[in-house]
Amino acid sequence: MERAVRDSRIEAIITKNGAVNELKAGDSGEVVLNRTAIYAESGGQVADTGAFYDSSESQLLAKVTGAFYPVAGLVAHKVVAKETLRVGDRVAVVADADRRARIIRNHTGTHLVNAALRNILGTHVKQSGSLNAPERLRFDFSHFAHVDAEELRDIEQQVNDEIRLNTEIETNVTLLEEALTSGALAFFGDKYPEHNVRVVTIPDPRAARGFYSKELCGGTHVQRVGDIGVLKIVSENPWPQAFAESKPSPASGRWNIFNRKRSSCGNWPASSTWARRHPGPGGEAFPDRQTARKGARGAEAQRSAQPDR
Ligand SMILES: [Zn+2]
Repeated sequence: MERAVRDSRIEAIITKNGAVNELKAGDSGEVVLNRTAIYAESGGQVADTGAFYDSSESQLLAKVTGAFYPVAGLVAHKVVAKETLRVGDRVAVVADADRRARIIRNHTGTHLVNAALRNILGTHVKQSGSLNAPERLRFDFSHFAHVDAEELRDIEQQVNDEIRLNTEIETNVTLLEEALTSGALAFFGDKYPEHNVRVVTIPDPRAARGFYSKELCGGTHVQRVGDIGVLKIVSENPWPQAFAESKPSPASGRWNIFNRKRSSCGNWPASSTWARRHPGPGGEAFPDRQTARKGARGAEAQRSAQPDR
């Protein structure tokens, strides 16, 4: 999506008092436009921030602090008006491009972490959520044991090996059945349409299937995986313990966090059966060497993180 959309029309303004015709300078409200450059919060990906300007983009009309889907396909912009906004006004919508770029890097990071976890810990690992924010990512998953320091190092190393390959991310829209047959991962617990599902692939010429990661995902991603720079795991916490403070990654200046608790990366809500029937890529290209060792610690320790979405 473009960073800016000009000549967008204000279709509706909602405040705590309901639908109104105008929002005065200084007031907060939600604004619906006929088109926008702002990504709404979806799955684990946080919303863009940005601004409304006049047509010349010289006068600030409103700050956009977030956006969400009140219903499918409709974006409500959370705004603080700097000038009076009226229904029918034309505005230029500008997203914070730098912030979006950081969110996108972390979103692609969650796909890499998902694949690495399944490769290192085993394909029983299921994503139960994620957070893709500008300053960090959090990946939530189910696994029957604590992930030890050696495993964390292996996961981090594998992810960074993929980043260095710098392959170009592929996206395509296909049938659900076709996507799952090709090894795409569905988000645990969600429901998908039969048609027009979006598949995001991180190719890897070294892998038997030709890819490192393939997921059903409606979110936004980097163009090449090397755009991420580096991914640093700073903590791992078993659910339901609250996640620990993250630390800045020295190489990237970004904060990445890693934990086992919450919500999603796919924009389509999902079914656990699909995820189980179609475990997707992983084991064959990268040996699942840890599974046996972990299994010996006892199935009684097994538990699943509860989706919190
Ligand atoms: Zn995704």
